[in-house]
Amino acid sequence: MRKHKPYFITFEGAEGAGKSTQIRLAEQYLKQKGYSVLVLREPGGTRIGEAIRKVILNKSRKEMRPETELLLYLACRAQIVKEKISPSLQQGKIVICDRFEDSTLAYQGFGRKIPLASIEVISKLVVRGSLVPDLTFVLDLDPRCGLKRGGRIDRIERESYLFHDRVRKGFLRLAKRERKRCNVIDAAQSIEAVAKKVKEALDRVF
Ligand code: ADP
Ligand code: MG
Repeated sequence: MRKHKPYFITFEGAEGAGKSTQIRLAEQYLKQKGYSVLVLREPGGTRIGEAIRKVILNKSRKEMRPETELLLYLACRAQIVKEKISPSLQQGKIVICDRFEDSTLAYQGFGRKIPLASIEVISKLVVRGSLVPDLTFVLDLDPRCGLKRGGRIDRIERESYLFHDRVRKGFLRLAKRERKRCNVIDAAQSIEAVAKKVKEALDRVF
């Protein structure tokens, strides 16, 4: 296995932006280069997290409060950080996570309008203050385009276009705030063109 400092990569962006597709390609690419890679998905990735994920995404739970949703997502994260992410980084693996803290800020903050400062306070408790991704890909796409691409309609995908537009703008604001960490890619391009941008960024690090 090749050596590198602990490396935590996240993919962010709307439903249908191409996160799962690009993560598969990035995983293959890094494995070909000889790295040990672990891919995780938020919410979920642990037994407890997958159970909570079902509650969060269940179509029939229309009465769920934004605060409840926030705390459920953070509960999943508490579990995945402790059980999977931190130990794997310590073992020298590259960890790729499908959504992380930026999604919470974009969806529950910008989307559901919970103050960002409150989210950040609780979030610090969950990740013990210190787990920030080394590299984040923000796949940026018009929500109308993303929803057309995705087949699955769950509780969140039923939300109005306005909600999804706030989320999109939220991701871009967050990326602007942390330019060094965040790499925004126009996800309306072909799968190959997006993958090329991802590879270029990975080549700069590995
Ligand atoms: P996400 O994980 O962000 O929801 P997916 O990777 O599952 O997105 O992609 C959703 C759908 O869109 C899939 O059918 C995928 O093949 C397709 N897709 C992904 N990236 C692109 C792209 N750049 N152009 C066109 N279709 C895409
Ligand atoms: Mg996906």
